[in-house]
Amino acid sequence: MAFEIKRVGIIGAGQMGNGIAHVCALAGYDVVLNDLELDRIKSGLATINGNMARQAAKGLYGEDEKKAALGRIHGTDQTADLADVDLVIEAAVEKEEIKRKIFSTVCPFLKPEAILATNTSSISITRLAASTDRPERFIGIHFMNPVPIMQLVELVRGIATEDETFELSKAFVSRLGKTYAVSEDFPAFMVNRILLPMINEAIYTLYEGVGSVDAIDTAMRLGANHPMGPLQLADFIGLDTCLSIMQVLHEGLADSKYRPCPLLVKYVEAGWLGRKTQRGFYDYRGEKPVPTR
Ligand code: NAD
Repeated sequence: MAFEIKRVGIIGAGQMGNGIAHVCALAGYDVVLNDLELDRIKSGLATINGNMARQAAKGLYGEDEKKAALGRIHGTDQTADLADVDLVIEAAVEKEEIKRKIFSTVCPFLKPEAILATNTSSISITRLAASTDRPERFIGIHFMNPVPIMQLVELVRGIATEDETFELSKAFVSRLGKTYAVSEDFPAFMVNRILLPMINEAIYTLYEGVGSVDAIDTAMRLGANHPMGPLQLADFIGLDTCLSIMQVLHEGLADSKYRPCPLLVKYVEAGWLGRKTQRGFYDYRGEKPVPTR
């Protein structure tokens, strides 16, 4: 019988991992949601619950469907619980050495035919694949944030990714009700190759005193018709993730135009990572976000 994806494992229950779990469960997949600590899994599950409640209140689906979807998600801090999944999507932090470590820990537990995917925003799929025992069954499935809302998924084949892996991934994305765009395996793929230099430039614009946080975001919202200002968007993505992507572009393409703005580095060093830590270019601790510069 042809290989079929029925159970999906997700590594990392952060903002992306919980979003991926959310859409997989709603599409009828059984989901194993893995993170290092039970607390993070708990908070991921609480976010899914809240997001599903909001969607149900909007009439996108009924209470029964929501309950059934939540019932399909099994949270665990045990890698061994990934043993019977057909597809694993790694959505842990954007650090190559951490991802490599995760793959070396997880691979021995997986079925030989299981597909291993990464949600990396920027790191070479070919290089990550080469660090696993299954480069042929390795692929980039890159979701956008917030996953339950954003329509696009980038699919990125590594050099060794075989056709069956690619076809199964396309069918998987379609079953989630999403649209895929196929990108070649170059640093940051398509969306972030274009988006992150714009965000980095907005941070330079702030750094050089051309405009305040509020002025820059207002300018791009009303002047370019962007739904969110670039600094607001940076906080939303996470400033650590933004910096990692700029570093991958800078190193991978060896072009000084991708130099990360020193102010971005400073925010990350301060631990002001955006919404997820309550502070970034805006302070989210009060009722309304307040610019921090
Ligand atoms: P996050 O910081 O919200 O979550 C990362 C999670 O991974 C944390 O809960 C952490 O505990 C967990 N983790 C770390 N090491 C682990 C391990 N060894 N085993 C299991 N879990 C582990 O980050 P995020 O924004 O969800 O990003 C995750 C990935 O998705 C990154 O590769 C990022 O580049 C990519 N991505 C992010 C966005 C975005 O807008 N934030 C968009 C697309 C893709």
